[in-house]
Parts: sequence; structure tokens; C-alpha cells
Amino acid sequence: MIPRRGTYPSSRYQRQIALPPMGELGQKRLREARVTLIGMGALGCVQAAYLARSGVGLLRLVDRDVVEEGNLQRQLLFDESDALEGAPKAEAARRHLQSANSEIVLESRVRHLEPGNARELLSGSDVILDGTDNFETRFLINDYSIATGTPWVYGACVGTVGIAAPLIPGRSACLRCLLSPESSTPEPTCESAGILGPVAGIIGSLQAAAALRILVERAAWDPWGPIRVEAWDGMPTVLPRSKPDPRCPACAERKLEFLEGRRSAAQEVLCGREAVQVLPYSRAPRDLCEAERILSRHGEVRRTPYLLRATLQGHHFSIFPDGRVIVFGTSDPLRARALVDRYLAGF
Ligand SMILES: [Zn+2]
Repeated sequence: MIPRRGTYPSSRYQRQIALPPMGELGQKRLREARVTLIGMGALGCVQAAYLARSGVGLLRLVDRDVVEEGNLQRQLLFDESDALEGAPKAEAARRHLQSANSEIVLESRVRHLEPGNARELLSGSDVILDGTDNFETRFLINDYSIATGTPWVYGACVGTVGIAAPLIPGRSACLRCLLSPESSTPEPTCESAGILGPVAGIIGSLQAAAALRILVERAAWDPWGPIRVEAWDGMPTVLPRSKPDPRCPACAERKLEFLEGRRSAAQEVLCGREAVQVLPYSRAPRDLCEAERILSRHGEVRRTPYLLRATLQGHHFSIFPDGRVIVFGTSDPLRARALVDRYLAGF
């Protein structure tokens, strides 16, 4: 059968156009839209699949990582051959999505989003979707969103719990109105606390639905408040809509420290030691007792008067009370950073 290309309006979007809030105008707006997805993990795969199939005109897929076997449990766009090949996630996702919809433009960027490239990677977006695994990147997206007035959709999940929130500058709270970057206790991660695949499906779907609504209704939409889902017990909670906080350092005082690079984590290769030191973005002192309690459930942890040594799934870390982490066994700064985000996000 010859595929039908460029025959819009075709039957492809018929059941979506039939929705009263969508219609032909909504579909046209989707076709003209540009969306950037940061992170092509479990959330990004779900977001991208729905947006590509919905006919969003341009999707930019940004991810720094490669597909591994341990991703296949929940990262729905990838298959065993991607993992065997160690394909970059952004590129593997682009390939699979293009075969699902040849009518849209897909860009893959195998990059780590950071202050130096944020304006380039996020430029021209009508909406940005969060599929990241760490709060530093989320605060960076938040700063860019405020600087440029670009809506974004926050999403996170770990264990059996997830949360999604559309954040539209001027109309809703921003991420820093809701959360402080100064966390002294370790955040659980999918590596340390596990992840139930369907939680990512629910949260990624909510994020995709919010993105579609932003694209179709534009300034007319007053976004819903954060939705929290406990998927094992079947408990959804809709939190109240929150307005911008007049004392927020980011959206009220416009101190965009993450975008300006003044609050970035930094990596430093330690000469001759096959080790990299990662300096955290948060300046709060670390609670090593709490860290020991949480991490000891997932690996071997030993506390000395000065630091915490942890071996988590074969990776060795030294964690200091001032927040520094030394990652042993690599001299690649980005690899070290990815391991810290994977196992110790929030340190
Ligand atoms: Zn704010």
C-alpha cells in the first residue's frame, strides 16, 4: 500500500478533529507548532509518541544518554536492538517516531541541556516538556520559560508516584514558587527507589494532554493545578491551582540564576585518579545521616567522620557534607554527572 503523505486533512487525525475543543483550527495549530522535549526516558517516550501521532509539526528531542537494557521496562519507544546497539535515545526515538508519522519534522539532539546551550536548544518552542531526571535541569527550563514567556509542563515520577503540572508564565506558579532548590535530603531516584512503568505512562500522558491544550487554546487556557498520582493504590489527587508567588526569586524578582549559569553543578576531572568531582547546584549542607539511611537500602554504605562512601550497583561514590560527590571509575565528566543524577539526585 502506498503511504499517504502530505494529504492533510486526511483520515489520520479525523477522530481528534472530531473533538469539539480541537476541530480543524486546533489541528492546524498543532501542525504549525514546535515543541521541545527534554529527556527521552520513560516520560519523554510517552509525550513524544502522543505529540507525534497528534500531528504536532515539529518535535525537537533532546537527550544525552544511550538506550540500555534496563530502560526497556518503561521506555516504550525503544526495543532490544536499540539497547544492543547502544543507540542514542534522541536518535532512536526520532527513528521510531518518524515511522509512526512521516508528515512531521523530527529533530534529534544528543546533548546535555545546560546554561551554555539552553537558549539554542529551547529556542522557538511553543511549549517545552519536562522528561528529565534531575531538578537542576528543571530549574534551568523554568528560568528559560520565565525569560522568554514560554509555557512548559513539569513532570516527575519515582516508585509508584508521579506528578504533572502545566506551568505558564504569568498565569500559574513557576517551579520555584512551588519548590526550593535548597534540599538537604537526598531525592529518591528511579535507580534507588525503583519505578512502576505505568506511572510514567500516566504522567507522560497528562503532560502530553496539557501540551496539546496549550497549543490549541493558547492564551485562553487557565491551566489546572498539579496532579499527583499514586498508581499502585489508584489514588489521584488534584492540588489547588497556584498563582505566581510575589516573593518568588525567579518569576517575581527575575533572578534567573540557573539560566545565567550561576547555580549550575560543575564537574572537575581529578588528575591521575580515574575520578571526577561533581559540585552540586544546591548550596545547602547535606544531611549525611539521612543519606546513609536512604542509600543503605540500595547498596553498601559506610560513614566516616568526614564523608559517606557508597557502592551502588558497582558504582563507587564519596559524598561530602558540603554536597560534593566524587565518582570513581571514570574520567568522563558528563558520565560522572549522569551517574550522580541517576543515583544521588538532590545531593
Ligand atoms: Zn515563581
